[in-house]
Amino acid sequence: MRRKLVIGNWKMNGNRAANTALLSGIVAGLNDFGADCAVCVPAPYLAQCQAELAGAPVAWGGQDVSIHADGAYTGEVSAAMLRDFGATYVLCGHSERRAYHHESNELVAQKAVVALAAGLTPVVCVGESLAQREAGQTEDVICGQLQAVLDALPADDVAKIILAYEPVWAIGTGRTATPHIAQDAHRFLRNCVANKNAAAAATVQILYGGSMKPENAKELMAQPDIDGGLIGGAALKSTDFLGIIQAV
Ligand code: PEP
Repeated sequence: MRRKLVIGNWKMNGNRAANTALLSGIVAGLNDFGADCAVCVPAPYLAQCQAELAGAPVAWGGQDVSIHADGAYTGEVSAAMLRDFGATYVLCGHSERRAYHHESNELVAQKAVVALAAGLTPVVCVGESLAQREAGQTEDVICGQLQAVLDALPADDVAKIILAYEPVWAIGTGRTATPHIAQDAHRFLRNCVANKNAAAAATVQILYGGSMKPENAKELMAQPDIDGGLIGGAALKSTDFLGIIQAV
């Protein structure tokens, strides 16, 4: 039985006062909803999460990680630094990183490898653009993105990653994948994982991301291969974020 997991991706939003209000709103409203929850925050706010979420049932993580351990890489944040501030998770290959920072499938795979080596759980994001979907390339694209990661990992480590299926056309657009479209992609990804490690395919968590809100979360989360959500816009308001966790 896979546990459900809801992760908020704050992207480049927040300030200390707003973060305190958001985090305390989440902690105050959390009940035993039967799902794990986490927030992936801009690097400067990791310390704030460490201080303000101590002892709370909310984990935190980064939004990106360097493939380098340390050295002359101005602006980058290492996996060890994320761990130093208590991070559990790190997003790898979010579509905004792939689009604006030209991250290749191979680079994303390396990020997953260094994250695991440092004791972080990489949340590997995959997803097709609208043009790719309309050209019938969805499976080729997401399989290619996933396969680079599977190729970079020893079979035993496959169960340690989390996948997020985030169709690019659904991110921040208000246009959510139907439960049927999302389920098809999730089942396809799980089958790809099975080709590398059948046991891992049964346990690996695959989150859906793309304009998930309290109103559409329940039907998405009810799909057999959807194990939770990666939430952008709706993670910035505690009532919306809690509404999604509650929908589990
Ligand atoms: C995201 O950024 O990962 C995301 C899913 O964004 P949104 O929920 O705003 O579509």
